[in-house]
Amino acid sequence: MPLLTAVELYRFYHRGDDETAALRGISLQMRAGEFVALLGPSGSGKSTLLACLAGLDEPDGGYVEVMGRRMSRRPEAVRAALRARHLGVLMQSANLFEHLTVEGNVRLQMSLAGQVDRRGIELLLEGMGLTDRRLARPSQLSGGEAARAGLAVALAANPQVLLADEPTAEVDSATEARILRHLADHCHAGRAILVATHSQALASHADRLLVIRDGRLIDA
Ligand code: ADP
Ligand code: MG
Repeated sequence: MPLLTAVELYRFYHRGDDETAALRGISLQMRAGEFVALLGPSGSGKSTLLACLAGLDEPDGGYVEVMGRRMSRRPEAVRAALRARHLGVLMQSANLFEHLTVEGNVRLQMSLAGQVDRRGIELLLEGMGLTDRRLARPSQLSGGEAARAGLAVALAANPQVLLADEPTAEVDSATEARILRHLADHCHAGRAILVATHSQALASHADRLLVIRDGRLIDA
């Protein structure tokens, strides 16, 4: 069974009489152990796709299944429960609670999943190169640090599927390499990762590339 399945996803945005077809019939599957990179120019639909896969947005057509269970067009509580149990999500912003430190954010996510583990928090922050910033608040972080902190939160509950939107957009290449090692370990443990990225380094480590253009997947 695939960990995550999307069937014929459509998403339209309307502003006045203007219609943007952000997703135009996207189908995909994520299997255990896969590291998949989602590539495409700005505005091609990457963030919309990840939000629909995460159940944070609802597709206008098609559906998403997580671990064989339908997520789309289910009540918010059902979507949230599926997300909490199986998915780790990093969006492009708003991933952190402002009143908590970096470590506090990671700890909260672990406790929501019922598995607080001090050593696990240390390893995660180390893997993201954030040990020195663990007591910082989100407003004190650079863009790259905030993305890495969001990634630590997304990974905190050891999710079956990680969905990450441009996690390394603002980090140096040494830090990116460190994050890549951490993500590779996550996949080797039988988890799956889908990362939207512009990074060649990240894409070159992927098992599979998905290329999106104008809301459609095209051949890589
Ligand atoms: P990417 O992440 O690849 O840059 P997005 O998924 O953010 O692309 O956007 C895909 C298309 O949908 C773009 O044309 C964008 O302008 C449009 N779009 C995204 N979000 C909204 C929104 N909330 N309202 C209207 N249009 C949107
Ligand atoms: Mg985007």
